[in-house]
Amino acid sequence: MQKVVKFGGSSLADSNQFKKVKAIIEADSSRSIVVVSALGKRNKHDHKITDLLYLTGAHLKYGVDANQVFNIVKERYYEVKNDLNLDVYLEQEFSQIEDNFSKNIDEEYLVSRGEYLAAKLMASFLGYTFVDAKDLIFFDYDGKINENKTYEALQDILKTTKRIVVPGFYGSYPDGKIHLLSRGGSDVTGSILAKASEASIYENWTDVSGFLVTDPRIVSEPKQIKEISYEELRELSYMGANVLHEDTIFPVQELEIPINVKNTNCPLDPGTIITSNPSDKSQIITGIAGKKDYVSITILKKQKTPKLTVIKQVLDVLVKYNVNVEHMPSSIDSFSLIISSNEINKRLYEVVAEIKALNEVTDVIVEQGIALVAVVGRNMALKPGMSAKLFSIFGKNDINIKVIAQASQELSIIVGVENSQFEKAIKAIYEGLVK
Ligand code: ASP
Repeated sequence: MQKVVKFGGSSLADSNQFKKVKAIIEADSSRSIVVVSALGKRNKHDHKITDLLYLTGAHLKYGVDANQVFNIVKERYYEVKNDLNLDVYLEQEFSQIEDNFSKNIDEEYLVSRGEYLAAKLMASFLGYTFVDAKDLIFFDYDGKINENKTYEALQDILKTTKRIVVPGFYGSYPDGKIHLLSRGGSDVTGSILAKASEASIYENWTDVSGFLVTDPRIVSEPKQIKEISYEELRELSYMGANVLHEDTIFPVQELEIPINVKNTNCPLDPGTIITSNPSDKSQIITGIAGKKDYVSITILKKQKTPKLTVIKQVLDVLVKYNVNVEHMPSSIDSFSLIISSNEINKRLYEVVAEIKALNEVTDVIVEQGIALVAVVGRNMALKPGMSAKLFSIFGKNDINIKVIAQASQELSIIVGVENSQFEKAIKAIYEGLVK
C-alpha cells in the first residue's frame, strides 16, 4: 500500500533540504505520492516564497515595480536547480509567469507558482512524474473540494504512473482557474490525496519531531506527544496550538488513515501519530493549549422571567451582529457569554447596548482580558478526580478561575483566567499534571 508524504516549506528551503527529502523517499519505496509546499525559510531572517509572491502581487496591484521582489523568488529556485543540476526549464516558467504581470494579475495563480515550481524541481530530482494540482484537486465554484472528481482524476493518473509529485495548496475551479486553499493548505492537499489513494498512512514532514504537549515558549522543553486522537488534535488546534491546518483531519479521519508528523532533519525520530483510537494510556494529559483575549459578558435577568426566554433574546442579538459564542456558563438568574475579542471586536458596545435595552435584563457586566486554557486528554475520562486535581493546582498557585467548562466525552477541561495569569496557569498545569 502506498504512503502519501507531504513536505513543508522548511523541508524544501534549499538544495540541502531537497537532498534530505530524497533520502527519506528513497528509504521507503511505498512513499510514492509526494506533496510539496513552496520553498520556506532557510533561517530565522529569511522569507517564505509564498509571502514573497503575495508581496509581488501587491506591488503589481499598486503599480509599484515588482521585479526586485520577484527576482528574489527567481534566485531561490535557480539556486536549487543549479545546485542539483536539474533539467527544469525555469527560464520558460518564469517568463510565462512574467507575461501575466499586470495590475489585474490573478493573485491566486501567482501565489500558487511557489508550490508549482517546487514540485517541478522535486519531480525532476526524484525522477517522479510531475502532476499539476490544477488537473487533480478540483473545487466547485463555492470553494468546496469536489471529492469525486478529484478521486477519479487520481485513479486515472495512477493507472499510468505510480510515483508522482504534486504541488500542495491549490487546485482549480470548473473553468480551470487556479484556486488557493487557505494558508498552510498543502497539509490539506496531502490529506485529500491520502484519502483518494486509500493510503496506508499520511506522513507530514516538517521541521519538528511531532507535537509538543504545550507551547515551548511558555514551558521549556515540554514532552513530545507520541499519540493523539483526531478529536484531541482538533480541540488543541482550535484552542490555539499551532499544529496542522485545521482541515487536515477530515479527509483521512473518514477512512481512519493515521497521520504521522515527522521531522525531515531527524527522520528516525518517531514523531507524533494521529489516529482514531490511540493505544497509549500512559499520559493522562495529551496537550495543553490556550488563547488570550476573550470577553465575558454576564447578563443578569429579572427573577420571574424564564432563563430560556432571555437566552433566546440575547442570542438573537448575537445572530444579528454575527458574533460567535465560545462558552455560556450559567446560574439561576444570570448567564455569561464568553466571546473571543477578535470576534466581537468593534461591535462590543453596540451588542452590549442592545442586550442592556432588553426588557427582561436587569444588568450587564462586561469583563475583558480573559484567557482560556484547555487541558485536553482522552485518558482523563478514565480517571476520577481530574478536575479536583486541576483546581487544587490553581488554588496552590494563587490563580483565580473565572470560567470553567468541560467539553463532552470529558475530552477537555477549559478554564478561564485573567490574561496576566495565562502563562503561569499553563506552567502550573504542566508541572502538576504532566511532568
Ligand atoms: N506555502 C503555503 C503557505 O505558506 C502553503 C503551505 O505551505 O502549506 O501557506
